[in-house]
Amino acid sequence: MDMIDHSAHALSAPRQNWARNITFAARRLHTPASVAELQDIVAAGSAIRALGTGHSFNTVADTHGELVSVAGLPRAVEIDRAARTATVSAGLRFGEFTGELHRNGFALHNLGSLPHISVAGACATGTHGSGVANRALAGAVCALEFVTADGALVKTGRGDADFPGTVVSLGALGVVTRVTLDLVPAFEIQQWVYEGLPQDQLLDRFDEVMSEAYSVSLFTSWRDDPVDQVWLKRRTGEGGRGAAPHRWLGATLADGPRHPVPGMPARHCTEQQGTPGPWYARLPHFRLEFTPSNGDELQSEYFVDRRDAAAAYGALNRIRERIAPLLQIGEIRTVAADDLWLSPAQGRDSVAFHFTWVPDTAAVTPVVTAVEEALAPFAARPHWGKVFTTPPATLRGLYDHYTDFERLTERLDPTGTFRNDFLTRHFPRTDGGGPERAETVG
Ligand SMILES: Cc1cc2nc3c(=O)[nH]c(=O)nc-3n(C[C@H](O)[C@H](O)[C@H](O)COP(=O)(O)OP(=O)(O)OC[C@H]3O[C@@H](n4cnc5c(N)ncnc54)[C@H](O)[C@@H]3O)c2cc1C
Repeated sequence: MDMIDHSAHALSAPRQNWARNITFAARRLHTPASVAELQDIVAAGSAIRALGTGHSFNTVADTHGELVSVAGLPRAVEIDRAARTATVSAGLRFGEFTGELHRNGFALHNLGSLPHISVAGACATGTHGSGVANRALAGAVCALEFVTADGALVKTGRGDADFPGTVVSLGALGVVTRVTLDLVPAFEIQQWVYEGLPQDQLLDRFDEVMSEAYSVSLFTSWRDDPVDQVWLKRRTGEGGRGAAPHRWLGATLADGPRHPVPGMPARHCTEQQGTPGPWYARLPHFRLEFTPSNGDELQSEYFVDRRDAAAAYGALNRIRERIAPLLQIGEIRTVAADDLWLSPAQGRDSVAFHFTWVPDTAAVTPVVTAVEEALAPFAARPHWGKVFTTPPATLRGLYDHYTDFERLTERLDPTGTFRNDFLTRHFPRTDGGGPERAETVG
């Protein structure tokens, strides 16, 4: 579902996010057709937020002022072969340019489960895929262009002192117009699904299981002992292009394509059963041409140090009776450490415990808090774009560069143009924080 109508430059705001659990408070949505027009809008506004494709599950993108989308800016996909980079329009969805990179012999190192999300929105929240050696998608960003509160167009790149603070930005620093991404040579992937991985195998050999392929995702309903499904995305040439064994660590190779959520049609998912295909058609779980579900879900996700994976799994297992009844499916992935200030994988190789909940905020919220309590001993960092209740004081202690980020927002946005309730709650300013005030809901 496309939340944004690009037929005019200033429209009534989209009412809701993709999951429909957030009704935006914004008065209207601008879709400028040029960077100059965007600069004028930002310079004239007092409360502005950038909106990507609206796939976040909380109020991170919202404002009581005006939303702006960069999806209407001229499309750019500029490949620099020598530098091995691509500079792309920030509003592009990954699925709108990854094929072009492939045809030019290049790839991104990784993708999230969904190709429908925008580059800027994904990077702003630390969105990630899986793989022990794969950083979050923002880890590929080597330069950015963005419009600051005064309407200036600024450029920053790797090597600049503040750069690590500007990539996972939560939209707090400005409106990103272009993103330069590191490229790697194009590659192919074979995807295999195994079913019924015994829990003791997982816990005894967690690193071995998660290192079995370029990208590994575990799907669990937290109902039974075995892990329901293991998705292996193996690069051809690295033990790929071969048949997969029928049995592996006690799990069984699936006899047909699978959807991670029981009862959902597998035709929505990227091709499995070992059929080789380009990276961009295998790394996401879902195909671009299908809407993966109708938005009837909530999501939460927590990152802990990978060395704590088994202990954190055990802590969640102890509250499985609370988790399972409200869960559509859980996913466990790995994310390599990066140096981006607000990246949930900053400074530590991580394991991410994801939950796709039923769409019932009242029922899910206390269980989200219970998950946070269970994971508290592991300094769990919540995904910025998903449902969480971690108190601001706790969040502050989870990030080495929290204060650095606060200083950066105060410097780049002294008048609080990009502050919204979400930022005011999680990054309170001593002066009360710009045009919006503390949110009343938890
Ligand atoms: C079905 C589904 C599957 C998902 N799968 C994954 C997954 O595999 N891995 C994962 O980590 N997450 C996943 N997510 C979460 C999703 O990736 C994040 O919520 C992401 O931020 C969504 O991008 P968006 O373009 O919709 O951003 P929005 O939700 O629109 O915005 C998110 C943030 O980005 C900022 N932003 C957007 N555009 C700009 C811009 N041009 N300049 C500055 N700031 C900007 C906004 O202000 C806001 O703060 C999934 C979500 C859904 C609905």
